[in-house]
Amino acid sequence: MINVQFAARPERWDSYGPALTKAFEAADLTVDLRQDHAPEEVDYIVYAPNSDLQDFTPYTRCKAVLNLWAGVEAIVGNKTLTMPLARMVDFGLTQGMVEWVTGHVLRHHLDIDYNLERQNGVWDKHLPPLSRDRPVTILGIGELGSACAQAVAGLGFPVTGWSRSPKEVAGITCLSGEKGLRQALETAQILVLLLPLTKGTENILNADSLARMPKGAYIINPGRGPLIDDTALLAALDQGQIARATLDVFREEPLPSDHPYWSHPQVTVTPHIAAETRPDTAAEVIADNIDRSERGARLRYLVDRNAGY
Ligand code: NAP
Repeated sequence: MINVQFAARPERWDSYGPALTKAFEAADLTVDLRQDHAPEEVDYIVYAPNSDLQDFTPYTRCKAVLNLWAGVEAIVGNKTLTMPLARMVDFGLTQGMVEWVTGHVLRHHLDIDYNLERQNGVWDKHLPPLSRDRPVTILGIGELGSACAQAVAGLGFPVTGWSRSPKEVAGITCLSGEKGLRQALETAQILVLLLPLTKGTENILNADSLARMPKGAYIINPGRGPLIDDTALLAALDQGQIARATLDVFREEPLPSDHPYWSHPQVTVTPHIAAETRPDTAAEVIADNIDRSERGARLRYLVDRNAGY
């Protein structure tokens, strides 16, 4: 019997309990899945960083913590978490992000907001270029960024991706390093942020990097709020350096109702809905990782504690 502790917000149990049970059965795993195992009897923890479980010390026989979120910045520095930590890579999460990013890239490219804001009886033609003349840059071409890059490239946009290590993604111009970042920014008429939040990525979009972008560029941030220096972005919007920004993630969530982003005419706030882990597909990923661990195989999607993601 494998004891699995479900440690997420209690309201998630109704959707995850049946999905995990089904996935464990399909993987032929004999699992006792509960929210209230005695810590010393737990073999695996299915985990969300906003759960009440923050001290992993009593979980003495736990073989791995399996995160339900793609982002791990809230947990990666937890000194009591000494067992392997896997993050979530899930078909539903990736597909959701592809749809959200593609939708907003097209919205900004076609300047759909311009027409929505001008239903005023004036016959004002505003013709966008073709996608091939609108370079898109994606900072972070991991699981989510590379899937978005390929979807956007499939619509005809020239796509540049930037990552920490050199990469190859079919149909995408891949850059890395400081020089690569400057080049990626200089062509970015639409910039998508899909980096994890680490010491190396915080405030990556600041006054200097915003100034390197073509005038009138668009920003789309479904990564993490602190990737952006908010004061610098607001200034760049006011100066016309940035035409519009669509922001899904923020330093403080929920975004306070008096935050200037809510009232700024060039900013669209969405409430951290770009992509959610889907219980049915995520449960299969969790079951697969437990199965691997029980067979002595390497877990998938292990977090590199030094890199922070
Ligand atoms: P991932 O597979 O780990 O990819 C991260 C990418 O960022 C990789 O390409 C990585 O480079 C690059 N990177 C990391 N640090 C860097 C640095 N210092 N300089 C340059 N590139 C760097 O992560 P993912 O699954 O695609 O997820 C990305 C992020 O999306 C998550 O961390 C989370 O914050 C966010 N997210 C948001 C939502 C939402 O609903 N808004 C949902 C899910 C995820 P290498 O390829 O060289 O490692």
